Amino acid sequence: MKILLIEDEQRIADFVCAGFREQHFLVEHCPDGNDGYARASQGAYDVIVLDIMLPGRDGLSILKSLRQAGNATPVILLTARNELDDRIDGLNLGADDYLAKPFFVEELIARIHAMLRRISGERQNVLAVGSLKLDRISREVSWAGKSIDLTGREFNLIEYLMRSPGRVFTRTQILEHVWGYDFDPSTNVVDVCIQRIRKKIASLDHSETETSPIESVRGVGYRFHKPGESA
Ligand code: CA
Repeated sequence: MKILLIEDEQRIADFVCAGFREQHFLVEHCPDGNDGYARASQGAYDVIVLDIMLPGRDGLSILKSLRQAGNATPVILLTARNELDDRIDGLNLGADDYLAKPFFVEELIARIHAMLRRISGERQNVLAVGSLKLDRISREVSWAGKSIDLTGREFNLIEYLMRSPGRVFTRTQILEHVWGYDFDPSTNVVDVCIQRIRKKIASLDHSETETSPIESVRGVGYRFHKPGESA
């Protein structure tokens, strides 16, 4: 799960980022409204956590522009205690939820989970392609009914590919989504991580009737294999 946090108060940003990372969420923090809007409208985020009072552009204006541009990324607003009008305006402008300051990060995480469960009722929390089944809420993954023990990173990688079976992703796309932007472009961490996932699946699959669900696409990157489709 990749989250954009737009919040100018460093103290809040620090504890929210720490809490998110503990949950294996990938978080990008941005303390400025203009930059926040630019990132929110360009990047692929699963959730945007948006403060209202910001230097540059304020949160409600960011939200309004995103929704007007057809960006449907779930947004949770952070509001000050007495900003009731802002909460109402925010919801009217298309926020999915709000949380009043001060708050505990655990509460924010619970709200995010609840919000995603609600929004993705039909968007599927459980992905199942071929023998592989992945639960985005409980973060459990199984192959032919047998549980696979994946690290946070491995889970995020396979989830990213599995959300769009058949679609080819470049190493750079995978790096940006799963590792964030601070990476060395010559790194082979993606290949190493995929090898580890394949090994874990292979160790459970003694039938060898099914090929690895992650296909290498020569010179380009990787894709999640759509059963019934030739490589
Ligand atoms: Ca603020």
